[in-house]
Amino acid sequence: MASPFRIGNGYDVHRLADGLELWLCGVKVPHSKGAVAHSDGDAAIHALCDALLGAAGLRDIGCHFPDTSAEYKGIDSKILLKRTMSMVREKGYELGNADIVLCLQRPKVKDLIPAMQQCLARAMQTDADNIGIKATTTETLGFVGREEGVAAYAVSLLVKTEPRR
Ligand code: MG
Repeated sequence: MASPFRIGNGYDVHRLADGLELWLCGVKVPHSKGAVAHSDGDAAIHALCDALLGAAGLRDIGCHFPDTSAEYKGIDSKILLKRTMSMVREKGYELGNADIVLCLQRPKVKDLIPAMQQCLARAMQTDADNIGIKATTTETLGFVGREEGVAAYAVSLLVKTEPRR
């Protein structure tokens, strides 16, 4: 019997370089470094999209928004998230909740988290309460610790809204 509940997980990394913009969860983070990317490089939204697509059985972000396409050059990742939610709803699912872990050594983003929750909730047409966001350093270890990159993990729970066939 098919479950009315579906989970998905996602992971994304972007390289950091001096003088670029750093976008995370749809919010611009004040920092001297930013993400090297085809899009705006919002690793958190990309991980979240993959978690949603995975839960809905819709493969992954690269299948729907290829980074070889000029259409997605420099694109605001919130647009990708909105399109992802449309696909999820079209398939008969609604978001239960999502939870995100941001991994970056610097800067501290704790004070930006409420704004990030609001921003994602607006894009996803859900309550901010349904979006968990936490941030961690990696204690100076690895590429995150050396400030060479930013990583994000996301999980999502979807609930079937249409009667099961
Ligand atoms: Mg990405």
